[in-house]
Amino acid sequence: MAEPGKRQKTVIVGAGPVGALAALYAAQRGHDVEVYELRSDLRDPSTTPLNFTKSINLALSERGINALRHFGRPSLLEKVLFETVPLKGRMIHGKTPSGQLTEQSQAYDIHGRTNYAIDRGGLNKSLLDELEKLPNVKFFFNHKLTGADFKKNKAWFTIPRGKSSPRQIDEEIEIEFDFMIGADGAHSSVRYHLMKYTRMDYQQEYIDTLWCEFHIDPKEVLPGEDPESRFRIDPNHLHIWPGKDFMFIAIASFDGSFTCTLFMPSSEFHGLAQSPQTSLIPFFDTYFPGVTSLIPPSSLIDSFTSNPHLPLISIKCSPFHYSSSCVILGDAAHAMVPFYGQGMNAGFEDVFVLFSFLDSYSQSSTSPSQSRAKALSAYSAQRTEDAHAINDLALQNYKEMRADVISPSYLARKWLEEK
Ligand code: FAD
Repeated sequence: MAEPGKRQKTVIVGAGPVGALAALYAAQRGHDVEVYELRSDLRDPSTTPLNFTKSINLALSERGINALRHFGRPSLLEKVLFETVPLKGRMIHGKTPSGQLTEQSQAYDIHGRTNYAIDRGGLNKSLLDELEKLPNVKFFFNHKLTGADFKKNKAWFTIPRGKSSPRQIDEEIEIEFDFMIGADGAHSSVRYHLMKYTRMDYQQEYIDTLWCEFHIDPKEVLPGEDPESRFRIDPNHLHIWPGKDFMFIAIASFDGSFTCTLFMPSSEFHGLAQSPQTSLIPFFDTYFPGVTSLIPPSSLIDSFTSNPHLPLISIKCSPFHYSSSCVILGDAAHAMVPFYGQGMNAGFEDVFVLFSFLDSYSQSSTSPSQSRAKALSAYSAQRTEDAHAINDLALQNYKEMRADVISPSYLARKWLEEK
């Protein structure tokens, strides 16, 4: 607990997008901030690229932008938005019975407002760069949280000593803190330890869908040609090839490439993996018309066989905090399936909502820890319902994207709405 006159020590576990934004908010309020991250600094070129386990491209929406805006330095939001691609709607791909390719644009907003396609790594780096500028922030990369005592406000981290010898034992350090923010992702260690201190309801579900990433290369732009021609398909749409039980999507990157994702039940992945050389291209030509003219067959097969086929988890829990000492945010509190494009956005919103509560309760009690306990309690009470709602919407939107966008009832509803 911070002594009178001493600055509050806030420890952030996880330097992903949500942890980095939470650290910025805490630092801006004058806390002594320590950020502990399992991995090495992602700005270090020798670090394993994040896309090994995370999608490279994300859709940033108003929910997330609002939280970045409230950090209070317009330059951060400007920097973040600079290399984004506006997404004004979705483009549904198909073909006519005679085999002609079709595209149908469906706007997200009647007023023309957009989401933004953003490079996840680039966004994370911008947040870390901003943190680096602040004198009251310290980074501890390659530090893995292994234990926490939320009554004594102590935590334990291991630092790997190198993997050359199996006998080498990782070094362990003990730290103290006033307040811990757990932003350590879906498999959160902070959440695991928090469960021992609070009666947390917890529910997790793996949906029967895996995802695998593919890539559409940019087009070469010749001198004198419009730079926009670097995109092989319209960059301002989220492209969807709905397949009823599965789907293929593509989101533009600023450099002209597209990051594509195949979402499909595990049994289908397993079936195609038996003989990708012969089955993958006919499968794509049948269900995702036009894709094999955007991605050369060899690249399609290579991505399918070399990129991981990753699971999707949905987590709900409640409450998100214990007393005045700990709260979990982002995927640690509410990992969701990606079909609503809101996981990170909701995590950013967590940061904004949490600090709004902390600010408004800061003068309400005799001690900082008492007012923090009240703020955390109010935060959990309000945020649980919202987090669960967005989790459910994300699950429901998978059916919307892979099937309903092409169903006659959907088209009829749209037609009526437009009348
Ligand atoms: P993470 O990004 O998981 O970061 C957690 C950090 O904690 C990591 O750096 C990790 O190394 C570190 N860590 C873990 N354990 C420890 C430990 N014990 N000690 C110290 N550090 C630890 N969201 C959107 O908003 N829009 C989208 O369009 C979108 N698309 C998606 C597409 C796909 C295919 C997927 C899978 C997800 C998508 N998401 C999207 C979700 C988004 O990626 C996540 O919600 C977001 O990354 C969560 O951020 P986070 O900081 O909470 O967690």
